[in-house]
Amino acid sequence: MSITPLFLVLITLHFTTSFSSTAQQTLNIHPQHYNPKLPARVFTTSNKFEGSSDLVHLRYHMGPVLSSPININIIWYGKWAPQQKLVIKDFLLSISANHREAVSPSVSDWWSTVSLYADQTNSNVSRSVLIAGEYVDHLYSQGTHLTRLTIQQVIANAVKSAPFPVNHKNGIYLILTSSDVTMQDFCRAVCGFHYFTFPSLVGYTLPYAWVGNSGKQCPEVCAYPFAVPGYMGKGGPGALTPPNGDVGVDGMISVIAHELAELASNPLVNAWYAGEDPTAPTEIGDLCEGLYGTGGGGGYIGQVMKDRVGRTFNLNGRRSRKFLVQWIWSPIMKACAGPNALD
Ligand SMILES: [Zn+2]
Repeated sequence: MSITPLFLVLITLHFTTSFSSTAQQTLNIHPQHYNPKLPARVFTTSNKFEGSSDLVHLRYHMGPVLSSPININIIWYGKWAPQQKLVIKDFLLSISANHREAVSPSVSDWWSTVSLYADQTNSNVSRSVLIAGEYVDHLYSQGTHLTRLTIQQVIANAVKSAPFPVNHKNGIYLILTSSDVTMQDFCRAVCGFHYFTFPSLVGYTLPYAWVGNSGKQCPEVCAYPFAVPGYMGKGGPGALTPPNGDVGVDGMISVIAHELAELASNPLVNAWYAGEDPTAPTEIGDLCEGLYGTGGGGGYIGQVMKDRVGRTFNLNGRRSRKFLVQWIWSPIMKACAGPNALD
């Protein structure tokens, strides 16, 4: 932060404390903290962990982590509005530690927990994340229903198309499907997943993550807590207001965050995970799924923030964007951690 903004902040603070309560009202830019008391919604409670760390055996399995600057190649599959792309790209560009424009608690503060994970050469997950390229598959090259195998064909097409870079040292692929695209297991078992491509299909082994827009298919499952199941709205606080005004896209942000954190710490599914079965690993995001703030757990999402018009968030990003993103398991605290913690 340069001296000028800090100076302005000090002036503002001075102003709010020295003038009338009316002035305080209008100048109060501090968001309100609140705990919406909404139960966390997860697919399985067995993967989730809240509280004492004794039962979590998160182990390192000797494989690499993404320790070089992480170049994300986005594949926009289906129909995407420019505004939706902007929100998602603003989130991705807020991760890097060199984006200092966001105030605390920021998205880059949140990624610092992910960067605590290292490989056997003591190289930590990189704090530098950039968008290396974008590929648009608006003609649904593999149809409107994808499987775990056809999605690799989508990547193969993208990789073949110049000038999309093949960068198997630093590059990862993020496939985002629009709300009219169905995916094997989407809504029933997954909101997103990460894996790596097979050389026989794609030509390279490339880590990738897929996240779908659940806005039309199952928002109460994959865009929770911006949509809640019917039985929960009755007499309760109901769904929270999404920070960027788009239930499907704001819901995707936390899933993208979850998958990127796991992909960075377990890109070839042989680095950081708990459980004995590598085909069903419990990873650093799974351990904290549905947890967004202090006091979460025991079925609640925890303390988050609300701006003047009621939009709910827990992290600040670039260009004054706000996001609601789940916490990540910290290998140091041996607990779920996030920069909006109140203690
Ligand atoms: Zn996961």
